[in-house]
Amino acid sequence: MFHSPMLINGVEVPSLSGKVEIIHNPANQDPVAEVCVGSRPDAALALQAAKDAFPVWSGTSSQKRGEVLHAAADLVRSRLDRIAQLITLEQGKPLKNAKGEVRSAADALDFFAEEGKRNFGEWIASSQSRSIVLRQPIGVAALITPWNFPVDLLAWKVAPALAAGCTFVAKPPSLAPLAATEFVKAVHDAGLPAGAANVVHGPGSEVGAELVENPISRKIAFTGETETGRWIMAHAAGQIKRVSLELGGQSPFIVCKDADLDAAAAACAQRAFSNMGQVCIGVNRVYAAEEIADEFTAKLVERTLRFKIGNGMDPDVDLGPMFSRAQRDRTKEHVADALGKGAQLLFGGCEPEGDGYQKGFFFLPTVLCKADHSMRVMREETFGPVAPVCKFKTLDEAIRLANDSEYGLAAYLFTNDLKTAIYASERLEAGGVGVNINNVVDMQAPFGGWKQSGLGRELGHQGLEAYLETKHIRLGL
Ligand code: NAD
Repeated sequence: MFHSPMLINGVEVPSLSGKVEIIHNPANQDPVAEVCVGSRPDAALALQAAKDAFPVWSGTSSQKRGEVLHAAADLVRSRLDRIAQLITLEQGKPLKNAKGEVRSAADALDFFAEEGKRNFGEWIASSQSRSIVLRQPIGVAALITPWNFPVDLLAWKVAPALAAGCTFVAKPPSLAPLAATEFVKAVHDAGLPAGAANVVHGPGSEVGAELVENPISRKIAFTGETETGRWIMAHAAGQIKRVSLELGGQSPFIVCKDADLDAAAAACAQRAFSNMGQVCIGVNRVYAAEEIADEFTAKLVERTLRFKIGNGMDPDVDLGPMFSRAQRDRTKEHVADALGKGAQLLFGGCEPEGDGYQKGFFFLPTVLCKADHSMRVMREETFGPVAPVCKFKTLDEAIRLANDSEYGLAAYLFTNDLKTAIYASERLEAGGVGVNINNVVDMQAPFGGWKQSGLGRELGHQGLEAYLETKHIRLGL
């Protein structure tokens, strides 16, 4: 069985306690790998290594750092098959999607390799002085990530941190640490000084907490649940640490009466069900104009029937298992709650039947109609493959319902009218609005949430700024 050590100070190491755990495949419960499990002292060692490496890496020119990041991107691409396979085996998503995730992670390294060179300062001439404004790397960054995109979401942090001149300690998700660790190892192997890139495995309550509370870390970049983000923000406050938080979502998808219904149904099905709905910007609530709601919903069901469900290692599969029993149980609870409150089941709502499904956490993509805001599925983060449809009469009503949420990560709108597109997208309370597109992620643009979906931005040039501090040097004349 594959063995996954941690990476501390450039060396692959077991944990200080010697503890190991087995990672299982969510498609069939087979053991995939044995992983070394650290605790607070391991995290403290890694932070010290990152601190020791900081003067060397931050003192390296941005051009040289860019060269190393490009080499890292190449190395990640050369190890793509292995890293992608680990994603599928530990997380469940189809191999074709896992490969796309690793490609995107390599692209992030390339993007920030160049973006790091554009960390320009300012020169300000005053009457009695001249001012130079510098943007310098914050220091050691703690990078804490979830299991739904274990490599990509880490790459969004690793790439700008290194490009800015920071060193880091990564803490991958406890139940899916394998691919993320291989990704960081590839980045390290591209020519980083020992200690610039570290990985520690272990529970969030121990390893994560040490990374947050130890005075060595100066920046916490976190993606995960809103509740965990709240804890991190509170505990980082003690030392006024910089935090970036990418948290939960409850994304609305509005279909206007003038929308291209085929395009909207395809986009909705893909964004609601890919990765089994375990996507922070996944579609959670659908609002369809009453004039077209029935026609749209029929098209959505038709699209949903097309997905092939199975073990992600099968090249024909579109949807794998859910990540864990807990994820599937929560999804079932939300569906039962909605049905109990008057929603109607149009497709799914249960596990698929047949050979190959018994041992895994499989669930059918589920379409509901007659949904309303009394239902948990419309208010809480299901993080599962459920698309509940609700009819609306006016655009203002749709916008009001879309904004009736504590979350504000992504919102989608399908319309063929430019005025409607501008009117609605200016009023939707979300960090990203997709108009006639079902994805608000673009490497060159900022990504992040409003309200309880987060704080700060990743990607774009804002993604680099998240790892920089501003310094004003005033020269007397
Ligand atoms: P989670 O919050 O349970 O865990 C995320 C990471 O935090 C894990 O590595 C975990 O071990 C660690 N952690 C847990 N407790 C900690 C603590 N006290 N201190 C420090 N670290 C701690 O989230 P999850 O279940 O792995 O991921 C799913 C969640 O992530 C969903 O809510 C989803 O919406 C969110 N998410 C958000 C985005 C985004 O960009 N906004 C992207 C993907 C996922």
